[in-house]
Amino acid sequence: MLTYDSVERSPAVQLRQYGSDGGQRFVVLGGGLAGLATARELLTRGHSVTLIEKGSEVGGLARTFEQDGFRFDIGGHRFHSNNPTVVQWLKDLLKTDLLTVPRHSHIYLNQRFVNYPIQFPGALAIFSPAKAAHMVASYLSAKVTERNRQDVSFEDWVIKRYGRALYEVFFQPYTEKVWGIACEELAATWASQRIGLPSMWEMLKHAIAPAKNTPATAISEFYYPRRGFGMIPATLEREILDMGGMIHTSAKLIACEPIEAGFQVSVVLENGVQRTIHADCVVSSIPVNALLQSIPEHLGSHEILAQAKLEYRDLICLMVALKKEQVSTDSWTYFPHRNLMFGRTHEPKNWSPEMVPDPSYTSLAIEIFSSRGEGSWNLPDDEILKTVVDQMDQIGWIKKADVHKNWVLRVPYAYPVYRKGYAENLTVVKDYLSQWSNLHLVGRTGSFHYMNSDGVIEDVFRLIEELFPQEATAVQPLIVSGRWM
Ligand SMILES: Cc1cc2nc3c(=O)[nH]c(=O)nc-3n(C[C@H](O)[C@H](O)[C@H](O)COP(=O)(O)OP(=O)(O)OC[C@H]3O[C@@H](n4cnc5c(N)ncnc54)[C@H](O)[C@@H]3O)c2cc1C
Repeated sequence: MLTYDSVERSPAVQLRQYGSDGGQRFVVLGGGLAGLATARELLTRGHSVTLIEKGSEVGGLARTFEQDGFRFDIGGHRFHSNNPTVVQWLKDLLKTDLLTVPRHSHIYLNQRFVNYPIQFPGALAIFSPAKAAHMVASYLSAKVTERNRQDVSFEDWVIKRYGRALYEVFFQPYTEKVWGIACEELAATWASQRIGLPSMWEMLKHAIAPAKNTPATAISEFYYPRRGFGMIPATLEREILDMGGMIHTSAKLIACEPIEAGFQVSVVLENGVQRTIHADCVVSSIPVNALLQSIPEHLGSHEILAQAKLEYRDLICLMVALKKEQVSTDSWTYFPHRNLMFGRTHEPKNWSPEMVPDPSYTSLAIEIFSSRGEGSWNLPDDEILKTVVDQMDQIGWIKKADVHKNWVLRVPYAYPVYRKGYAENLTVVKDYLSQWSNLHLVGRTGSFHYMNSDGVIEDVFRLIEELFPQEATAVQPLIVSGRWM
């Protein structure tokens, strides 16, 4: 059975001891992309770095799992950035191992597969003329009736801009499936950061003159490492070790205790040995809640934890190897329907042929949005497989008979949840932590900021600039990619 924190691996990846002289002593908490990229930047500047990772290997959400020659990312990770510095960072890291892959996706709506991002008039054509007319009318009337609606929730934000009918058909079902909460509970910030669909006016213009104005977002390209996204953390890990960095995996963080000249970070290693490391500076990329828990209670950390109630959404990944050459040519396929257990699939072979052991096979990485404590989270693996495969068979996506092998991976802390009020709560946490000028948050999980890996790399650059202001670099401001899913 696969578990997120413990994956079979060669014993050599267990514990490495390297040292580095000079500079400041940094402890980096968490070995995902944020922690690894930070560690590498610090080492190149001559500082000493010890990285603490609770899992048995580094990579976090950016890992690639290999099972019997089939490779799976957690949900399929493509790399895209509008920031040339970030793209160059990746190219320098992976060199010839980086592929360029065309992107085209579909969404399953009204028993039909429609292009995603949604394009018009194609998308309206799957509905009856009356329903399509109702959507247009709802959009037009929202311009008047919803004009003064405040942007508090996701629901407010979308209805004001697209009308209720489009909201109910296109936006609400998938969003509620992903987050497991009602759209009226989700902060409007989420919508404003992520929805990059054209306005209805633009859609209608395409409907009238589609040939002149094909949406640029319909087909684009992205970068992908040829043996899976996990090549990025694996390469970073290798470079960190080559530069003398120290990485502790399977290391349980017991305490991060502020002392006069820095922090004492205590961990228990897999062999039961406890270690206390003195740090001049701590960079945390672990869940904010875990960091607060590690700070001694008498400093008020647990009160802040209870007050802030920051939530993360978990995820189940069902990875299926199939005895057939291809399911579709899609990069991703979205399944918003509430009655379907799964929400999104991705076919790794479409991104790189090296993701399968033999070209006569393919595979699907299937995302099931679920959190610890929910019904589907607690189901036995074979029941998850049976439900998903039965449903896919029924809608004609795959055939039961094609299933060759399967694995289930439960992924905690997959997404920070932007519940209404989260921003104020996050400010409370950040204000509290800011009393220690040598404690820094970085990355998606560590700073509770929904960003893709390109955003994480920009965040690392931002941190490095903050730590070493004397080094003026030409890093551009954070560009949050406008994408709803
Ligand atoms: C389903 C899914 C699909 C995605 N698709 C894309 C995509 O297509 N493109 C893209 O660019 N990005 C994508 N992302 C986002 C991308 O994965 C993240 O932006 C990035 O990996 C976050 O890196 P991080 O280091 O901030 O966090 P994480 O990867 O979460 O790293 C945090 C690390 O801290 C460790 N940790 C936790 N608690 C402790 C503790 N107590 N002590 C020590 N260590 C601890 C964890 O094990 C983990 O390794 C996707 C994410 C998900 C969930």
